[in-house]
Amino acid sequence: MEWPTEAMRFTIEDMTETETLDTPSASGHATKYTRNNPYFSTVTYNELLTGEGSEKETRHVELSLEEGMTYTPGDAVGILPENRPEAVAETLTALGFKGDERVLDHYKVEISLEEALRTRLQIGKLARGSVTQLAKLAPELEGLKVMVGPENKARAEEYCWGREFVDLATDFPGVVKEPQQLFNILSRLTPRMYSIASSQAMHKDNVQTTVRVVRYESHGRDRQGVASGHLGDRANTGVLMPIFLHANNNFRLPEDTSAPVIMIGPGTGIAPFRAFLEERQATGQPGDNWLFFGEQREKMDFLYREQFLGMHKDGVLTRLDTAFSRDQHAKIYVQDRMQERAAELFEWLERGAYFYVCGDATRMAKDVELALLDVIAKGSNGTLEHAAEYLATMKKQKRYQRDVY
Ligand SMILES: Cc1cc2nc3c(=O)[nH]c(=O)nc-3n(C[C@H](O)[C@H](O)[C@H](O)COP(=O)(O)OP(=O)(O)OC[C@H]3O[C@@H](n4cnc5c(N)ncnc54)[C@H](O)[C@@H]3O)c2cc1C
Repeated sequence: MEWPTEAMRFTIEDMTETETLDTPSASGHATKYTRNNPYFSTVTYNELLTGEGSEKETRHVELSLEEGMTYTPGDAVGILPENRPEAVAETLTALGFKGDERVLDHYKVEISLEEALRTRLQIGKLARGSVTQLAKLAPELEGLKVMVGPENKARAEEYCWGREFVDLATDFPGVVKEPQQLFNILSRLTPRMYSIASSQAMHKDNVQTTVRVVRYESHGRDRQGVASGHLGDRANTGVLMPIFLHANNNFRLPEDTSAPVIMIGPGTGIAPFRAFLEERQATGQPGDNWLFFGEQREKMDFLYREQFLGMHKDGVLTRLDTAFSRDQHAKIYVQDRMQERAAELFEWLERGAYFYVCGDATRMAKDVELALLDVIAKGSNGTLEHAAEYLATMKKQKRYQRDVY
């Protein structure tokens, strides 16, 4: 997955107080909560969406909101995770520290080293910068020296892949002499963004998300994503979770409520479209809705199946197309379904449909764009060049919006 999403051209590191502090949601309300001043929300629901036997672990998580906190479909919620206690303990052991040592955090507030490793520092996914910083403390160590500088970038990246800080500390013991040095070696633990999967017109007091829990094994250790692991393992109902809402004005339902919308949302890319559909349903918007959803297997990976089938039955979802890649010998993806429905898809575009894509940036979003260009070229009996112009016009009219990560 790539970061940042192109619809939200910011990095969390760059996000300033004012950007989130006074970012109004489309409904015009400002929120006082930011990454630096998060709202301590209560987890009110946290259940698996994927069924037994699935290769994915995707959860539906609901978080309470305070009165006055508002969001609009298309927005995201930022979650400030904590590193898991086992990872903190392993890191302390590798470093030879106890955890009760005192350090100053990024705001010069004195805290224990244990708290710093749990809540302030990125001890997950190893960054090349950490290797470089550690090497500065031990210039004599050949093993570190060979990973420093632009000429050794590839070697350092290969080392970092699939490793965390605990691996570095284990491979090069005794280099960190003072706990405070860790603030130079490790970057700050940043919030993770999750597309909002609910409409406040339907759920006034909470915000809902669709979270794929990242778990993998590498270099002999079981690993997990910091935030998704936190939500997956340590966020039962009743647990407090620091959050903030983030407006995303580049991913919005059409102002014209009668305009048709086409939504391509495989995997967790479904989240904002559940929000769009709930919004259109709750506010009685008359526009047609067409959803393309894709995952591995229908039996265990059809996220929100009952709700979407219900919406289809009730006519909220005018069309629902699914692509389950592993249910047959030849893999079928959402872009293949688009190709199969090319004539009708082009007809919707000609009717002024808005086209949305959410989810994986590395492959899916590119494949969907190629399929879309093909659909346009076929539908208009034109060349791919003409299709590219058609798409450029759609972009100008804000009728082609992507939220990919
Ligand atoms: C605007 C936006 C919206 C988003 N919406 C959603 C959403 O709705 N749902 C959702 O689930 N996510 C969403 N994401 C992604 C989410 O923010 C997190 O990036 C994701 O949950 C992983 O974060 P983490 O803290 O769990 O993992 P991290 O601790 O950040 O670790 C993830 C990293 O682990 C490494 N890794 C993962 N697997 C392997 C492996 N097999 N081998 C080696 N290394 C590996 C990779 O380097 C990967 O980048 C969104 C992102 C953005 C920017």
